[in-house]
Amino acid sequence: MDLLALLLPARCGACRRRGSGLCLDCAATLVPERFVLAGPTPLEVVALGRYEGPLRRAVLAIKRGRRDVAQALGRRLAEVVGHVDGAIAAAPTAAHRRAARGFDQAALLARALGGASIRLRLEGASQRGAGRAERLARCVRFVGGDVAGRRVLVVDDVCSTGGTLLACARALREAGAISVEAAVLARAERWSG
Ligand SMILES: [Zn+2]
Repeated sequence: MDLLALLLPARCGACRRRGSGLCLDCAATLVPERFVLAGPTPLEVVALGRYEGPLRRAVLAIKRGRRDVAQALGRRLAEVVGHVDGAIAAAPTAAHRRAARGFDQAALLARALGGASIRLRLEGASQRGAGRAERLARCVRFVGGDVAGRRVLVVDDVCSTGGTLLACARALREAGAISVEAAVLARAERWSG
């Protein structure tokens, strides 16, 4: 991927026009929104927009390994979120997804927001080919970081069912966080996630 990036002219991650990251036209289509995930403890989430159109294409480009697109969207997310009053945690990514992409997109996004100081880990059966029930049953564990008595912002790329974010929030509260919120690139409807 890095070699290809040297050989090919950089293009917008969404519309393929010349340029890197996300072009101004595609960035202008983003409509940030806030929503609340229902759960035992509701979780407030901020997103750059719906998982459709240019944003969806940009997120898919990130999944194919476009680190520059992740950085561009991460900077935009940081602008929308503003000052983070608390700690940051990247939502954990399954190891095989991280390996396929060449980088951890949630960690990279968290870096754009100031850097993840709280570490979480995905535990349980291999996520390879996991069905919906298995994905929902996967477990997020608090690994380390100064979380007691702090507010924490969890960062991820796409929120579809919200299962991962809610699991992150639960693990962080159990570790002592006083409140948890989330920031994601895109909000997907359940059926499109
Ligand atoms: Zn574009």
